[in-house]
Amino acid sequence: MNDALLALEGISIPRGFWAKVEPEPNSGCWLWTGATTYGGYGVVNSRILFHGLRRAHRVVYEAIFGPTSLHVLHRCDTPPCVNPRDLFAGTDADNVADMRAKGRRSYKTAAKGEQHGMARLSEAQVIEIRALRGVVRQCEIADRFSMSVCTIEAIHQRRLWKWLPAGKGGVTPTPALQVSR
Ligand SMILES: [Zn+2]
Repeated sequence: MNDALLALEGISIPRGFWAKVEPEPNSGCWLWTGATTYGGYGVVNSRILFHGLRRAHRVVYEAIFGPTSLHVLHRCDTPPCVNPRDLFAGTDADNVADMRAKGRRSYKTAAKGEQHGMARLSEAQVIEIRALRGVVRQCEIADRFSMSVCTIEAIHQRRLWKWLPAGKGGVTPTPALQVSR
């Protein structure tokens, strides 16, 4: 669990809820890994804690910003995401406009790496991270890019950004990196 998730634990959402949330390091989305609706929205079912069946992203939004009669929409176009940073409340009209803007685009194909508005690494940086493999210790690479060692490891093993080349050699590391977060 990352620090941002821990900071939210004081809010009236039980620990069991966060156990079903998996932060996605590239996009910054927090993905719900529990049950979902047909449309991909996370659902929680607890009569005591959530008054019956509730959408997971709405539970998070209301715990932080208070109850709302509006729709709770996603900036990131990722229905299972419960990161409050990606959520906003909108009217019926906003909801329709939002759905129209997103069209039939599947959330699974909509956002990929750098094209995603919240990617924390550029493609060039990913290639550079791969080039540094075996040259610099993983924890130093992690420090330099302000990423976790787990993320660096995943990039090295191409579990993340797997569509980019392995980037062995030929890349000169830039001395001072500005990683936007
Ligand atoms: Zn998101």
